[in-house]
Amino acid sequence: MAVRRILTYPKDEEILRKVSKPVTAFDDHLFELLSDLNETMIFYKGAGLSAIQVGVMKRVCVVNTGKRLLEFVNPVITKQSGVNKIKEEGCLSLPNIWDEVKRPNKVTVEFDDRNGNHKTEEFIGYEAKAICHECDHLDGILFIDRVKQQNKNRTR
Ligand SMILES: [Zn+2]
Repeated sequence: MAVRRILTYPKDEEILRKVSKPVTAFDDHLFELLSDLNETMIFYKGAGLSAIQVGVMKRVCVVNTGKRLLEFVNPVITKQSGVNKIKEEGCLSLPNIWDEVKRPNKVTVEFDDRNGNHKTEEFIGYEAKAICHECDHLDGILFIDRVKQQNKNRTR
């Protein structure tokens, strides 16, 4: 277990913009990555962390909104509904930047657990918001992109 260095924007933008690759091996490397992500997220008091934020281009992320630790391997949001009441969003890779991002209040997520068991679960509220944020990272999307997009729609 180790706290890893978190890549930050704009310095490490080139890596943060990469689209992460699906996990196919559920082995010790994956367990170590998940342990390190959890430890790093907790150390820096984040609500979530994705592998790409520590420079690992794998579709893996963790979420901790205070109630429980969630781990996702190959997550896909298959359904979303509602409007999240928690507006403000931040990111460990964008220190000191906070902004309003519109997110769904409820999401259905298909994912694998660390042992490769395929699961489908629903998440609401803060957890739903955090999962959306982390899934964006896996596609190289940062929350400031969402803010820009919202502002563009507003002026249209
Ligand atoms: Zn983030």
